[in-house]
Amino acid sequence: MRRTRRGLPLTRAHVEQIFPKLTPAQTRRIAARGHMRAMERGEVLYEQGDSAASFFVVVSGELEVVRPSGAVETLVTVHGSGQFTGEVGTLSGRRTLFRVRATKPGKVIELDRQHMLALIQSDAELGEILTRAFILRRAELVAASVGDVVLIGSTHSADTLRIKEFLMRNGHPYSYIDLERDPDVQSLLDSFHLGASEIPVVICRGKVVLRNPSKQQIADCLGFNESIDQTHMRDLVVIGAGPSGLAAAVYGASEGLDILVLETSSPGGQAGSSSKIENYLGFPAGISGQELAARAYHQAQKFGAEMLIAKGTRLVCDGKPYVIEVENGARIPARTVVIATGAEYRRPPLKSLSRFEGAGVYYGATFVEAQLCGGEEVIVVGGGNSAGQAAVFLAENTKRVHMLVRSAGLAESMSRYLIRRIEETATIVLRPYTEIVAVEGGNHLEFVRWRNSQTGQTEEHEISHIFVMTGADPNTLWLGGCVALDSKGFIKTGPDLSPEDLSAARWPLARPPHLLETSLPGVFAIGDVRSGSIKRVASAVGEGSIAISFIHQALKE
Ligand SMILES: Cc1cc2nc3c(=O)[nH]c(=O)nc-3n(C[C@H](O)[C@H](O)[C@H](O)COP(=O)(O)OP(=O)(O)OC[C@H]3O[C@@H](n4cnc5c(N)ncnc54)[C@H](O)[C@@H]3O)c2cc1C
Repeated sequence: MRRTRRGLPLTRAHVEQIFPKLTPAQTRRIAARGHMRAMERGEVLYEQGDSAASFFVVVSGELEVVRPSGAVETLVTVHGSGQFTGEVGTLSGRRTLFRVRATKPGKVIELDRQHMLALIQSDAELGEILTRAFILRRAELVAASVGDVVLIGSTHSADTLRIKEFLMRNGHPYSYIDLERDPDVQSLLDSFHLGASEIPVVICRGKVVLRNPSKQQIADCLGFNESIDQTHMRDLVVIGAGPSGLAAAVYGASEGLDILVLETSSPGGQAGSSSKIENYLGFPAGISGQELAARAYHQAQKFGAEMLIAKGTRLVCDGKPYVIEVENGARIPARTVVIATGAEYRRPPLKSLSRFEGAGVYYGATFVEAQLCGGEEVIVVGGGNSAGQAAVFLAENTKRVHMLVRSAGLAESMSRYLIRRIEETATIVLRPYTEIVAVEGGNHLEFVRWRNSQTGQTEEHEISHIFVMTGADPNTLWLGGCVALDSKGFIKTGPDLSPEDLSAARWPLARPPHLLETSLPGVFAIGDVRSGSIKRVASAVGEGSIAISFIHQALKE
């Protein structure tokens, strides 16, 4: 085994918070919940890829954290006495990213994951120190692209973007090697017997090679779902981990409920694709949707909620407990259910638009997409707040942003502060009464034709990036008629359910449905998927917390 002793390029800006040294009193409190064990020089405490690894505090001696990669080991960090192992994967029980080995003999305190979670939840001081260190460590690893995954892809490939987004939004660190830009790519492809036509390729822990994998295959390979029992009955199963589902998980788990969250893709939902949310309470400088989602996700995990990365495919509602069928074949029983599946982007009815999705056509404007179009001209379609935010954000590093709206202007559909910002940004050109009529290109979008409905004039432009921000439809098809929907497919709840809805659903209780309760007792709907909801992050979060108070009542029935 060849070893590089050079540490990884971690910034170490907050080194005392990332690698804190616990006081003797703090160490004693941890010791009271775990057991002391001796370690010998060279002993491996856990391997890269282990699930639900223990948490260790060094009492004496020294531990090294290394990333194994083929015959090479790279040093990540060293823990001396008073320091501890772990990062956010330790909270969730996901597979470990690194190998941890004793470099000097000594003693460690070992806590299994359940005892570590109990410590974090009950000891406020240690809970803060450990959670903060875990989150900052993961942030450093993501920023330095240091993890257990290598992605080989191409800037011109939509699937590469899909995989990058999946890994990034799940906060999973990965190294990226570009087919066109990286000189070493051929030797790497050769060593795994891969051809350039097979990209994107994901290599997990240097061992498993996945060619153009689905999200589910990546989740399985990285063991995202391994430590989760998918058979035992939960107090609450939340479907969807957008702001509303995450809020239900945080409030529910903090109040002692046994919660499983199901998420098709990654935490954050629509908000996760927002480059900057400026109207969420408590963040005067704004916060990116991904950062908000990551914080909420870690908070939910801290309180013991678990998240399964898989799609809910059917709600079985002909008896109790309810059952949620999942695409991986699992059938999860639930005493109560929260539907927080939100909504999906509306796609303009344009031939060949889908061909360029991820290769010039995007439904979110985050740092990842912005990197792809720096210095170029881009189009933002839509006149709502999400379109306005995208335009302002993209204007920062593109040559020009063409904002296409079907109506006369922005006044009806957008917040005043955004309209002002758009007006003040010289590089944003507002084009009213304008719609895209054709998109063309090879592997990537190259030309766009738009038409002004007032003048009838069409123009063709050499533009390679379109951001479609035109609203969304509810994700309710999978419910298969279990709950009453409105005419647009959103879920009706509480006072919106008419006597006819309730009699059609055979509502069995003497009481009327609670606020946010659907036509099925104990099944709630929150956030954008709910009929009549206000489509905002704050209202989605508020509904998530309100639902929990009614779930306590439903659980007693
Ligand atoms: C680009 C953009 C910018 C925005 N900016 C702002 C802003 O600045 N301020 C603001 O207040 N609001 C903003 N919004 C609106 C806000 O993001 C939404 O109102 C909010 O995200 C709704 O949250 P939700 O949890 O109800 O649903 P969503 O955010 O839609 O989340 C639903 C989740 O459910 C998952 N899901 C769907 N079906 C299934 C299934 N069958 N099984 C498992 N999981 C499933 C999805 O993958 C998704 O993660 C923005 C929206 C967009 C698109």
